[in-house]
Amino acid sequence: MSYEYLFKYIIIGDVAVGKSSLLMQFLDKQFTRDHDSTIGVDFGTRQLTLDQKQIKLQIWDTAGQETFRSIGRSYYRGSAAALLVYDVTKRRTYNQLNTWLEDLRRHCGSHMVIMLIGNKNDLEDQREVGKEEGEDYAAQHGLIFKETSAKTFAEVEEAFMLTAKSIYEKI
Ligand code: GDP
Repeated sequence: MSYEYLFKYIIIGDVAVGKSSLLMQFLDKQFTRDHDSTIGVDFGTRQLTLDQKQIKLQIWDTAGQETFRSIGRSYYRGSAAALLVYDVTKRRTYNQLNTWLEDLRRHCGSHMVIMLIGNKNDLEDQREVGKEEGEDYAAQHGLIFKETSAKTFAEVEEAFMLTAKSIYEKI
């Protein structure tokens, strides 16, 4: 299907916070997933309508490279948004947010839309990071914020859609 806009998203954050799961949930029905072995990433696409315009989202996943902090320049290039994910049941992944944000700012400047995602909020009994801590971090750094569960689908669609809206409002 033809489209008027193409938005590239990248998903970043520590290993096992749920990046691939979020991507799979969001792509669910219109599933197209590919792998670019030259740069070692997975990506998927999904098309949506916003303000009566066809918008194609191309979403890149690190395919495990974050383990070695070896994400290359080409991963960041041309991205309109980043989904920066932590796990609400692992404070250590929240404590890494500054490092990820520095990487982002270094590679992408300050113009991009950043959606902070506190994932795994279905695991309420194991929670280590309060929702208000996510909200505060986002407010301090000019990010948008959602808590999600890639397991129950809660707010997953909304997080990706809100990101698209934020990009659209800036163009
Ligand atoms: P990635 O390394 O950041 O891509 O993380 P994965 O998507 O591979 O997820 C790591 C593990 O966490 C897997 O076992 C997932 O099934 C699990 N997981 C991911 N998201 C959620 C969630 O929202 N809730 C729960 N309970 N488990 C999740």
